Amino acid sequence: MSRHAFALLFVLVACVVSLEARAQELAITPPRDAQYPGVVQLHVDVSDVDRRIVRVEETLPVAQAGPLTLLYPRWLPGNHSTTGPIELLAGLQVETERAERLDWRRDAEKMHAFHVQVPAGVTSLRLRFEFISPTSADQGRQVLTQDLLGLQWEKALLYPAGHYVSRIEFQPTLRLPEAWSYATALEGAQRSGDTVRFAPVSLEHLVDSPVFAGPHYRLVELDANPKSPVRLNVFADRPQELDATTAQLEHHRRMVRETLALFGSRHYRHYDFLFGISDQFTGIGLEHHQSSENAVGLGYFTDWTASAPSRDLLPHEFVHSWNGKFRRPADLWTPSYDVPVRTSLLWVYEGMTEYWGMVLAARSGLWSHAYFRDTLAQYAASYDVGRAGRQWRNLQDTTQQPIIFYRGTQSYPSWQRAKDYYTEGALVWLDVDTKVRELTRGKRSLDDFAQAFFGVHDGQVTPQTYTFEDVVATLQSLAPYDWPAYLRARLDDHGRGAPLEGLERAGWRIVYVEEPSESVRAVDAANALDSFLFSVGLALDKSGKVAEVYWDGPAFKAGFAPGTTVIAVNGRAYSAKLLREAITAAKGDPQRRIDLLVRKGDTFETVSLDYHDGLRYPKLERIEGRDDRLSVIIKPRTGTTPDPRK
Ligand SMILES: [Zn+2]
Repeated sequence: MSRHAFALLFVLVACVVSLEARAQELAITPPRDAQYPGVVQLHVDVSDVDRRIVRVEETLPVAQAGPLTLLYPRWLPGNHSTTGPIELLAGLQVETERAERLDWRRDAEKMHAFHVQVPAGVTSLRLRFEFISPTSADQGRQVLTQDLLGLQWEKALLYPAGHYVSRIEFQPTLRLPEAWSYATALEGAQRSGDTVRFAPVSLEHLVDSPVFAGPHYRLVELDANPKSPVRLNVFADRPQELDATTAQLEHHRRMVRETLALFGSRHYRHYDFLFGISDQFTGIGLEHHQSSENAVGLGYFTDWTASAPSRDLLPHEFVHSWNGKFRRPADLWTPSYDVPVRTSLLWVYEGMTEYWGMVLAARSGLWSHAYFRDTLAQYAASYDVGRAGRQWRNLQDTTQQPIIFYRGTQSYPSWQRAKDYYTEGALVWLDVDTKVRELTRGKRSLDDFAQAFFGVHDGQVTPQTYTFEDVVATLQSLAPYDWPAYLRARLDDHGRGAPLEGLERAGWRIVYVEEPSESVRAVDAANALDSFLFSVGLALDKSGKVAEVYWDGPAFKAGFAPGTTVIAVNGRAYSAKLLREAITAAKGDPQRRIDLLVRKGDTFETVSLDYHDGLRYPKLERIEGRDDRLSVIIKPRTGTTPDPRK
């Protein structure tokens, strides 16, 4: 062997040895289906509202001396992503029951894992740390404000590696700010002053049972059935935001009745909507088995017309108790929060929930039928005009989006694509619903699927997993057809336009008109934008700054990018009204251009839009001679249609 060859061999051996050392160092005990000995005492103090610091103290029983790994939840249920905010954990200290401080060492590769050595004779460890809740939007969700708390327990605990999270028992205690009310699906609460102690629960159940709290609170009974009551727990920035009218509450009660009529079962012992109305607390819609976290902007009850875009939120999250929590995709279920999830069936989990959320909003009167159609028109139009990205990225691939990019804005979502399995998924389920109706001459529908797939085992709370084949088998039992090919074509398609077959089979087509619908106006107002997406392919904020540019649209072709600011339209200071007028003036006149003075960074230039099709806003129009299946789908099942204007 030459000297060089020997040296090379030495390097290779050294590499192998170092990789082996790494593999040993990484050993975090995988989760086993075995009970963790003892009950973890968890004390979470959220009373420091001024500084927004959540203080955690945990007493962890330990059965033996030796290495122990503490995990901060990483793969979070409902997010389907590695969103556990490890960067917000600070001040970690580990002590024995004899108050001896133990060193901890963060894992070299898994940043949410902390290794400690338990000395002989020690029976419990005391852990102390803070969850530094975000104080501005760029740090993450604002979950603790002067008037509202949304506590997700997984942000404020560590758990021992090596066990299924369903096999680790926690006893949670919560210290609230002075005189605050709270709501949660947790049971057995005992309040003493501002401290609430709950009955012991599994870690899985605890993480599935967040708490909302605040000084301004109203409890509304939505379903008084003592066997399975449903409650709306409203918290708001100001007491007047709690002023719901009797008619508004009746729509919400109706929504619960319609949902129960749809599924024909309940998989909760009691259900709590945790509902925040705030312009400080960050908006949310997050499903749990026996509750949901929901937050919207001010005016939900007090500015009823403006709040329409958020009124399918509660039905959507309620549906998840059946679709997502009780019936759960098999590849999404994992035994612990450090095991990666797979998201292949999110087009069922979220797509069908989006569809039912909209349908139930219409059936219950939370939306008028016209508003439902206008919203559906917007969804369909956003694919018809604004999803060039379907050419490279199919619906199936978008189901991995939460893992790729969970939160934040994209430059070109029309090309990059986002969590499109929600809205494109809803169009696919409209397609399936109308196909089942067509095949069975109206005798069967997706309502029957809901009963057969989710309505089984009334009263069972334990999740039941499913696969693509299970979905197909249930469809097959309702209406024999080549469902695997039908669904795969829609999931794997690379067509450019919108999946509109369902809409057409429902008896409606999408058309573009010059006046925005109530739904377009309400969505624009809620986002503080003026949308010209379906005409020149631009959405702008009130100052003229471009928020979105449709890929391959007229503005894109003229060189617009998000962040460009329109300063003037045809020589006059920008306003949305002026741009509307300029688009209308150039309609059908190829000589007439739309000249826009724009600012890109610190340079100014004039961009000329060669666009002559006028203003375009989506709307649904009846297809003469076709059955109006859409109106049948949104017809209430419990009594007559209530008036949504009240
Ligand atoms: Zn959802």
